[in-house]
Amino acid sequence: MPELPEVETIARDLRGLVAGARICDARCDWPPTLRSHEPVPFARAIVGRTVEGVGRRGKQLLIWLAPTGSGGDGFGSVPAVLTVHLKMTGQLFVVPVATPMDRHVHLVLTLADGREMRFRDIRKFGRIGLYPRDPETGEPIAGEAVGVLARGAEPLVDDFTVRRFRELVSARRGRLKSLLLNQDFLAGVGNIYADEALWRARLHPLRDARTLRPGDVRRLHRALRDVLAEAVERRGSSVDDYTAPEGDGSMQEHLAVYQRAGEPCLRCGRAIRRIVVGGRSTHFCSWCQRLAREQRETGQKALAARPVGAAERRGRLEANRKAAASRRAVARGEDPKPRTDAPEGAPEGAV
Ligand SMILES: [Zn+2]
Repeated sequence: MPELPEVETIARDLRGLVAGARICDARCDWPPTLRSHEPVPFARAIVGRTVEGVGRRGKQLLIWLAPTGSGGDGFGSVPAVLTVHLKMTGQLFVVPVATPMDRHVHLVLTLADGREMRFRDIRKFGRIGLYPRDPETGEPIAGEAVGVLARGAEPLVDDFTVRRFRELVSARRGRLKSLLLNQDFLAGVGNIYADEALWRARLHPLRDARTLRPGDVRRLHRALRDVLAEAVERRGSSVDDYTAPEGDGSMQEHLAVYQRAGEPCLRCGRAIRRIVVGGRSTHFCSWCQRLAREQRETGQKALAARPVGAAERRGRLEANRKAAASRRAVARGEDPKPRTDAPEGAPEGAV
């Protein structure tokens, strides 16, 4: 699932592509995609609005829309926000109207300038909502979208200081891996960057938050901010179906532990391990990320499990990677076969 860096990349791409564009039509062929409206009332509420900007909260996009001016049912006269949760396979593209449509596109917003913003979603878990907007926060006004947005702290904002992080951590208990994934604790961190931050901070994913010493908290704070900022810089990790309107990211080539089970740790050379924590695969180096003996006992079940041989797992990962790369190419309207001889400046297709 796209995490903070991936969603931030999409927000930045979209901002450049659609800020100032006016929406003149809306079509949705899979009603569950819309969490706030049925397709017809949704179209009525969004048509005529101009995109004012694009932001992000946690793993969701916020697309800010101006009032229509016409008033209508009253909703049209207030500023609105479109929340977009991509979930597993959601993708957004901005293309000329004439670009061939494929069957995985489930929402189309036609722009008055001859382009369309298309929401494409193979698994159909993505969710989009349209709400009146709080002018202060840019988020849905209180009570309008209960439970839709993450409540946790944004780790890349300026006031997310070590002191603030220490306060947040001191109120928590439980395994670090599960805590980092909790969107009411931190907004935007998912499986990839939780594993990467813990490796950078040399903290075991099963370590209990209550046992962290001041130095541990400082290293984890720094690791989280560094890995997320680097990933934003590299346009996110294009593993699975994530791609942005202006193309894939490259952070997947710089990950130290995620999906590297059995490969050597970049720090000590020992094999990266994979275990399952709270149902999520978790990657770490058991040499660089130590667990105290008393905690090892409570984590015994997770640590003992070895479901699949490393070689078999690597083969399956490689096959999954190839399949995902070819799905992303299809999504962009490119030839899905890997092009080893692609000339420089080959057509991008998407924009
Ligand atoms: Zn190591």
